[in-house]
Amino acid sequence: MIAAWRRLTLRSRLTAAFALVFGAMLLAYALAVYLLIRDRFAAELDHRLDQELEIAERSMVRDAGGHLAWRHIHGPEHSEDQRLRNVAWLDIWHTDGTLSLRRHDAATGSGETPVPPLDAAWTGLRSLELPDEVHLRLLQRRVSIEGETLLMRAALREDDFARGLVVVLWVMVGGLPVALLGAGAGGYWLAGRGLAPIHRMAEEAEAIHAGRLDSRLPIDNPHDEPGRLAFAFNALLARLEAAFGELRRFTADASHELRTPLTVIRSVGEVALREPHSETEYRDIIGTMLEEVDRLTLLTTLLLELTRAEGGQAAMKCEAIDLRELVRDAAGFLGVLAEEERVRIELDLPATVVPVTGDWMMLRQAIVNLLDNAIKHSPPGATVTLASQAQGEQMEISISDQGEGISAEHLPHVFDRFYRVDAARSRQNETVRSGFGLGLAIARWAVEAHGGHIAAESTPGKGSVFRIALPRERTLLHPEGTTS
Ligand code: ADP
Repeated sequence: MIAAWRRLTLRSRLTAAFALVFGAMLLAYALAVYLLIRDRFAAELDHRLDQELEIAERSMVRDAGGHLAWRHIHGPEHSEDQRLRNVAWLDIWHTDGTLSLRRHDAATGSGETPVPPLDAAWTGLRSLELPDEVHLRLLQRRVSIEGETLLMRAALREDDFARGLVVVLWVMVGGLPVALLGAGAGGYWLAGRGLAPIHRMAEEAEAIHAGRLDSRLPIDNPHDEPGRLAFAFNALLARLEAAFGELRRFTADASHELRTPLTVIRSVGEVALREPHSETEYRDIIGTMLEEVDRLTLLTTLLLELTRAEGGQAAMKCEAIDLRELVRDAAGFLGVLAEEERVRIELDLPATVVPVTGDWMMLRQAIVNLLDNAIKHSPPGATVTLASQAQGEQMEISISDQGEGISAEHLPHVFDRFYRVDAARSRQNETVRSGFGLGLAIARWAVEAHGGHIAAESTPGKGSVFRIALPRERTLLHPEGTTS
């Protein structure tokens, strides 16, 4: 039943639900109206009966022989027929159970209505059903006529009233299906109109595939539900388009980066094979090839690291860290390199602990990448300053260098994957440890995964400052901002 209901279209379900609710309401309304009419009819009948008895009581006199008779009044409107127009019969009894007077319905003639026997102990109002489907309403009460207490009965036919009720019932029963049909048709039309924009949206959405992510659904009215749905769908499309674009760029960049070392290996090998070489030359050639293989290995490792990290698969530790120690550790790690490049590393650390919670290795990687860049871009004899301090709830690290700096056009992009300020020059000056444009992207990921923030400032020709701000307590965040 539920499965069959769910298989129906929303339009059919809305129509059915609408017709059902409307039908139930109509039925309840019809029932209430019917009961009200019936009660009103019944009350009216009782009132009339009561009036008839009262009139009859006032119209009775005793004739010369001591018998009860109608008071003689002139005028047709006061005739006996007139008085008894609606009464099936009227009779008056002595309290000992003997009949004093009976009048029958003038229209039907005397004796046509079978009269039930008197129940002398009872007074009041009741409905009677006599043979031949005669329905009567009977009123019996004690009256006093000229000093004598008598029992007076009068009965009114309920048939007219019953016929009226049947007509009302038929109108209602007959009208209900027609009203339901009308409601169903109206509901179907309304639901169709309401759902039409959704149909259009579904058709448009069906035509969208990975290659057409730049298309958007039309929004007729941004304030109604279909409009909001289209708006949400368009926002989703925009996010997907951005993500797909990013993925495409990533794949293209990664392939490009992988192809370069492979091309070098191939051309070096081809040159080597073309003519015989001395052993030293062969060693050089093999050395060059191995260097490229090392670069390839590093690149694939970095790519894997980045993909895992961005996919949220990297398992992060949550340990108490003193940022001063972390900075000292990173500086120690790159000390030899700095010496080689003749760059001085200066530490500017406070006396008190700079506490954060997080993953030591991840944060160390971020600082190492920044320090590595600072050393790489500093001229011989320059100083790189590593500082750390607590700023309220934020713990900060800054890495300042006196290198060539980064121009304003490149600054917003340096954290993007594979972004290099001068790709050609990087390639020329490259060492195994650098040159893919991934170092800052990895640093940013590590910092943002700790709920922190990384930013760069630079004055071309003077130097750059990279700042990391970390919350004291680690909030587990992926770079996209989703809590893990
Ligand atoms: P790479 O591994 O190629 O250095 P990064 O992601 O670490 O890649 O850096 C991206 C780009 O930002 C580099 O091409 C480099 O030119 C520039 N850059 C990074 N740090 C500095 C710095 N301290 N001074 C000048 N330029 C920098």
